[in-house]
Amino acid sequence: MKELSHWINGENVKGTSGRFADVFNPATGEVQAKCPMASAAETEAAIANAAAAQPAWGATNPQKRARVMMAMVGLMNRDMDKLAEALSREHGKTIPDAKGDLQRGLEVIEYCIGAPQMLKGEFTDDAGPGIDMYSMRQPLGVVASIMPFNFPAMMPLWHVGPALACGNAVVLKPSERDPSVPMMLAELFVEAGLPKGVFQVVNGDKEAVDTLLDSETIQGVSFVGSTPIAHYIYSRATANGKRAQCFGGAKNHMIIMPDADMDQAADALIGAGFGAAGERCMAVSVAVPVGNETADRLIEKLVPRVEKLRVAPYTDGDDVDFGPVVTREAKERILGLINSGVEQGAKLVIDNRNFSLQGYENGFFVGPHLFDHVTTDMDIYKTEIFGPVLSVVRAKTYEEAIGMAMDHEYGNGTAIFTRDGDTARDFAHRINIGMVGINVPIPVPLAYHTFGGWKKSMFGDLNQHGPDSFKFYTRTKTVTSRWPSGLKEGGEFHFKAMD
Ligand code: NAD
Repeated sequence: MKELSHWINGENVKGTSGRFADVFNPATGEVQAKCPMASAAETEAAIANAAAAQPAWGATNPQKRARVMMAMVGLMNRDMDKLAEALSREHGKTIPDAKGDLQRGLEVIEYCIGAPQMLKGEFTDDAGPGIDMYSMRQPLGVVASIMPFNFPAMMPLWHVGPALACGNAVVLKPSERDPSVPMMLAELFVEAGLPKGVFQVVNGDKEAVDTLLDSETIQGVSFVGSTPIAHYIYSRATANGKRAQCFGGAKNHMIIMPDADMDQAADALIGAGFGAAGERCMAVSVAVPVGNETADRLIEKLVPRVEKLRVAPYTDGDDVDFGPVVTREAKERILGLINSGVEQGAKLVIDNRNFSLQGYENGFFVGPHLFDHVTTDMDIYKTEIFGPVLSVVRAKTYEEAIGMAMDHEYGNGTAIFTRDGDTARDFAHRINIGMVGINVPIPVPLAYHTFGGWKKSMFGDLNQHGPDSFKFYTRTKTVTSRWPSGLKEGGEFHFKAMD
C-alpha cells in the first residue's frame, strides 16, 4: 500500500502520528494510498519551518517572485498529462475535467506574474510642507490554506499562488481525499525556484486544522469547503485575531424564461448540472422554468439529453460525461437525499437509483437523476446535494423565480436564460448572489476578476483571486515623512552652501 507523506522544507517527510486516512480510487472503490494525518506537533513544526523561511522570501523583490510564477506556468504545462491522470485517479473526474481543474488554477498563477504591478504602493508628493506620504503592501507572514476535495489543483493554486506572490510563506492543508496533486504542485514550485520551506504541505484532519487556527504564527486563513466548516473556521480564526476568508457551499438556481432558447438552456443545464458528477460549488442544481408551458418544454428537451449521459471511469476515454463521486459515504448521502425527494412528493423523472457499472460494481458511481415538481420545502431543494441530481422547481412568474433564488440561504452563483435585455438587467441588479450568468450557466469569473459568493456561501470580506487576493494576502503600511526644507532662501540647496 502506497504511503503518502507531508511536504516539509522541500522534501517528502513521512507522517509520525500513526494515524492515516484512506485515499480511494473512486472508480473501483479500492483503497489506493494511505494519507498521513498530522499531529499537532507535526503541524507546529511545519509552521515553524515556514516562519523561518518567510523573511527572506518576503524580502525577495516582487519581480523575482513573479519569475517563480512564470517558471511554474511552464512546469505545469510540461506535466499537464501526468498531473491530470493523478488528479482523476484520486478524485474520479474525467481527464478533460481534470485538465480544466488544472488550467483554471494555472490561470491564477499566470495572473500572479503581474505581482510587481499589483503590489505597487501609492505616493502623495507634498502632502504638507516638506511632507510626503506613501503606502506599501507588505506580506502577512505565514498563512494557512485549508482546501476541499472537489478541485484539488484549482483551489490550492487560487490561494497559494497569490499568497506566495505577495511574499508570504504558506502552510497548505489539502483535502485528505485527494492529496497527491497538491503535493506534486508543491514539488513543482521548488523546481520553479521557490526556496524550500516557503510552501509546506501538511496532510491531516481536524487536529492539523485546529492547530493552524490556534497558532499565533499564522496570520491569515483561507478556507474552501462546506458551509458548516467554513463558519466554524471563520469563527475560530477571527476569534484568534486572524484575517480569514472562508468560502462555503452552494445551491445555484438557473431561471429559464419563456423566451429563452430552449435547446441552449437544456444543453447548459446538462453541463452545469451533471458535469463532474455535480461536485462543483458552481454546479446548477435547481432549474426554475417560468410558466408551466416553459417547464414542459424544458423537461421534454432535458429527458433525452440526461438519458444519453455516459457515466464511466476516466480511463474509458474523453467521451465519458462524468465519473464516480468521491467516496462511498458521498454516494450513500446522495442516494438518501434522492429517496427523500421521492418520499416528500417530487416526481423522479429519471431514476437511476439502481445504477451499476459492469466491472466497477464497487465503484462510487451515481447515475444522473432528474426531478420535476420539486417544492421549496423539500430537503432536495434546501440541501446542497453535491451529486448528479437536477431539480426542476416550477415558478408561475419571474418575480416568484427571482424571489426563490433570493430567499435561499446560499448565494454562490446563479444564471438566467432569456432573450430579453430588461429582464436580464433587472436580474443582474437585484439578485443577492455573488456570481451571475446571463445565458451562461456557470459564471466562474476569470483570474483577473474575483470569485466569491454571498450569504452563507462566504464568510469574510475579500474574494478569491483577482485584485482581492493581493489585498487579502498583504497589509497596508502608510508612511508619512517630513524632511526639513532643502531650499535656502534664494533657491540654493543648503548642502551647496556648506561647500
Ligand atoms: P469539507 O468542508 O468537508 O472539507 C473541507 C476541508 O475542511 C478539508 O480540508 C477537511 O479536511 C477540512 N475539515 C473537514 N471537517 C473539519 C472539521 N470538523 N474541522 C476542521 N477541518 C475540517 O468540504 P469538502 O467535502 O472537501 O468540499 C465540498 C464543499 O466545498 C461543498 O460544500 C462545495 O460547495 C464547497 N466548495 C465551495 C467553493 C467556493 O468557492 N464557495 C469552492 C469549492 C468547493
